[in-house]
Amino acid sequence: SGLSLSHDPLVLKDIFIAVKTTRKYHKSRLELLIQTWVSQAKEQTFMFTDGEDNELRLRTGANIINTNCSAAHTRQALCCKMSVEYDKFIESQKKWFCHVDDDNYVILPSLLQLLSSYHHSQDVYLGRPSLDHPIEAAERVKSDGSVSVKFWFATGGAGFCISRGLALKMSPWASLGNFISTAEKIRLPDDCTVGYIIEALLEVSLTHTHLFHSHLENLQKLPTDAVLQQVTLSYGGFENRRNIVSIVGGFSLVEDPTR
Ligand code: UDP
Ligand code: MN
Repeated sequence: SGLSLSHDPLVLKDIFIAVKTTRKYHKSRLELLIQTWVSQAKEQTFMFTDGEDNELRLRTGANIINTNCSAAHTRQALCCKMSVEYDKFIESQKKWFCHVDDDNYVILPSLLQLLSSYHHSQDVYLGRPSLDHPIEAAERVKSDGSVSVKFWFATGGAGFCISRGLALKMSPWASLGNFISTAEKIRLPDDCTVGYIIEALLEVSLTHTHLFHSHLENLQKLPTDAVLQQVTLSYGGFENRRNIVSIVGGFSLVEDPTR
């Protein structure tokens, strides 16, 4: 009928999920993801790493991409990975780009529900701001000078999503290695650089959402009935090793020690 909505409902396969990882975390982190949420989104989840692991690839059938970026935890190495993630997404033709770390747990139905309230051809940048104020950076200009720029960015450790429409506009600063030179202009990490391109250069605002969570939060505080509505959760960090969430039913802590 003439009253039908103008676009098809979003399905999981419309979403490209990039997981940033490194060789030393394949056993301790990737295995767990592959056994849990990734198994429900195998075709569209890609793990971007820095070393070969044919054994893991063959045994699990996971999409593991060796970026050939350095395995160092440096701005350059992390931006190199983000740049490959971006290029693979553009190539994929999918509607949404979502980036997560290898210590994130993605609740796929919530992700699908959240993205369904936007359209992929619009400019959408969704995530949790890592600060309660915009970051101020010195943008290097021309030969010597620098100017101050202020922008919000979504914290990479909690995951973020970008619509294809917006991702295409990022191309001059993000595609084919340009992401690395863009990051050098402000000398900030990969997630800040994404915010810089979107908010400062393209003048598109970050849509703040609290449904994404990094390990900087204590997730034990999430009410039981809210846990499954979140989009991402995160495994524990240094001071909070067991970032255990409270869920009804399912498996006991003994059966599921990583909960
Ligand atoms: N990571 C990486 N290279 C490294 C160290 C870490 O790509 O040398 C990735 C890691 O796999 C994770 C993200 O960077 O996806 C954040 O690392 P981690 O959780 O260890 O540290 P955080 O910065 O969150 O404390
Ligand atoms: Mn982390």
